[in-house]
Amino acid sequence: MNVGFIGLGAMGEPMARHLHRHGLLTVVGNRTRSKAERLARELNARAAGAAADFADCDLVVLCVSADADVLENVAVLAPVLRTGAVVIDHSTVSVDTARAAAEQLAAHGIGFLDAPVSGGVEGARNGKLSVMVGGRQTDLDQADTALQSYAARITLMGDSGAGQATKAVNQVLVAGINEAVCEGLALGERLGLDPVRLLPTLAAGAAGNWFLDKRGATMLRDEFVPGFKCAHLLKDLHIVQGMARAAGTSTAVIDQALADYAALTQAGHGDADTSALILRKRMP
Ligand code: NAP
Repeated sequence: MNVGFIGLGAMGEPMARHLHRHGLLTVVGNRTRSKAERLARELNARAAGAAADFADCDLVVLCVSADADVLENVAVLAPVLRTGAVVIDHSTVSVDTARAAAEQLAAHGIGFLDAPVSGGVEGARNGKLSVMVGGRQTDLDQADTALQSYAARITLMGDSGAGQATKAVNQVLVAGINEAVCEGLALGERLGLDPVRLLPTLAAGAAGNWFLDKRGATMLRDEFVPGFKCAHLLKDLHIVQGMARAAGTSTAVIDQALADYAALTQAGHGDADTSALILRKRMP
């Protein structure tokens, strides 16, 4: 199987490396081409200069930033890929974008899976991501070997868009957990509690969670290397807010997180990890 990978960022590069370890990676592409050239040299793969470089791929995996990036790549891949190929998108984008991408590729006989992921850069590096999929079972069967190389769990949630709908729910939980952990740890700092004793004590009880475990110590040292960029969570929250409004459910957690991440991004922290939220929580 020939697999191509587009989008070699914090998530995409380690995922591409897993594909390489399983002997599946053929060609890599990235907006800033030097990144693709560097990885291709190291892994003895091809660096793509144009969509035509993916023409021999059975699968093309995307992990790019936002909706426009997914649609841009789908538009150039659609006329190039052979009938029966499958495109998998791991980016977090809207349900509408997923459905539009699926429709455009289906017109060329190409399958599409919206397959956003959760588990952070640690999950990508360890090959332990949770993959939430929308699309057809037959396309998922074709993609299974590639996905297994970096997934702990792969779940077909329904038709096109169902993967992104699931990710939207995931991001409400992520945003709320971030709010609670950063607010709590800011209070702990101000109360003079020793983080070496505070963090494992919290983690051992009902307040334990992934974000506290992976980002608690670093945020207390004011280290905000991504990880997951504030600007990406802000993008997700705009998507999720629109979905919750349309569905008529509460947006209280989403609204608070959106205001916080908009302020952080405006203050120049867009490329910082989402744990930079503690900077805001140190103020009243
Ligand atoms: P990132 O570090 O910013 O990487 C994005 C990569 O995609 C960059 O290498 C970028 O190229 C490339 N790219 C962007 N637009 C492109 C285009 N139009 N064509 C080709 N390449 C393009 O982001 P990330 O953290 O890996 O996240 C990627 C996606 O996964 C986002 O949708 C994010 O919301 C989602 N996600 C992230 C995490 C996480 O913990 N980081 C977890 C789950 C989901 P340049 O080198 O030019 O910037």
